[in-house]
Amino acid sequence: MLYRKYRPQTFSQVVGQEHVVQTLKGALLTGRTGHAYLFSGPRGTGKTTIARIFAKALNCAERTQNPQNIPCNKCAACLAVNDGRSLDLIEIDAASNRGIEDIRNLKDSALVAAPGGNYKIFIVDEVHMLTKDAFNALLKILEEPPSHTIFILATTEPHKILLTVLSRVQRFDFRRLTVKQISEKIKEVAKIEKIGIDDEGVRAIAASCDGALRDAEVSLSKIQSAASGAERISVDTVNDILGLISFSYYPEFFGYLANDDKASAVNLVHKIYELGIDLEHFSKEFIEYLRKIMISKINPATLAAVGEEPVVPIGAEITGQKLVRMINAFSAARNEIKLSPIPQLPLELAILEVTDS
Ligand SMILES: [Zn+2]
Repeated sequence: MLYRKYRPQTFSQVVGQEHVVQTLKGALLTGRTGHAYLFSGPRGTGKTTIARIFAKALNCAERTQNPQNIPCNKCAACLAVNDGRSLDLIEIDAASNRGIEDIRNLKDSALVAAPGGNYKIFIVDEVHMLTKDAFNALLKILEEPPSHTIFILATTEPHKILLTVLSRVQRFDFRRLTVKQISEKIKEVAKIEKIGIDDEGVRAIAASCDGALRDAEVSLSKIQSAASGAERISVDTVNDILGLISFSYYPEFFGYLANDDKASAVNLVHKIYELGIDLEHFSKEFIEYLRKIMISKINPATLAAVGEEPVVPIGAEITGQKLVRMINAFSAARNEIKLSPIPQLPLELAILEVTDS
């Protein structure tokens, strides 16, 4: 899998999360590292990857000699982590080890000094999955952590973490990656792997994964194995392989609605339905497209801040009022699709609602 092959091994290879990386590097340089960290944020945004790099840096042999350049990925401690055989780094998936016994084992292990004579680092992934008893046991350890231990807790659901635990950890909030950040990384991997893919195809992959770089890399793996090899991969091929809806449908559909061309709009809905595209999904994406038009009208800088281009449809003038009507009508239609005896019907009604006769 590409995401394993291209998983960052140093801080400089990490995509995004600059605020986290800078703070952790600063702590390593000054020697002011804490005993417990919480990495919270959406899946696929680099929490365990950064946790591993940090763990590696903590025990890197170069730490005293060359702290600017850790982890070195050359010393015995670094190599052991990279090969998954480090005895100083213990990773626990709380989704499958969620009971009090698991945390007791962890505690026993924490009391024993690291075999390498270094820090013993525990990465507990999906920590919110722990049972209440297990959480309390973990809290006890965090209240008086043995001096050689460091805990890195990771979660996608920080609101489920007890306040008493939160008060014991240094928290870092990971952000969704932007389409631009993901596109750049995907391009880089594609180049090394000699996957010939159009920019538009790269963008389609990046836009489909909701800010999770890992998902984009998994998509690229799929495309790599499904595409024939010699041919250049177009955005249509990407859409086919990943089951995505071609982005070109949204401006086309919008153009018909803005110009009150009911017949063409209804035709397009039928065409999409015949192609086997899920109409609910189409509606969701269309609403997102409308929202981008709206934001582009109000304040394009909001989109630029997340690396997205403003959306200004060509050849389709529209008032803010009509845009609002569209968003409301299609939001309602989307909710009705699964209840409707004829899946196209709610969309057809929405078309009538937003077009003028
Ligand atoms: Zn090292």
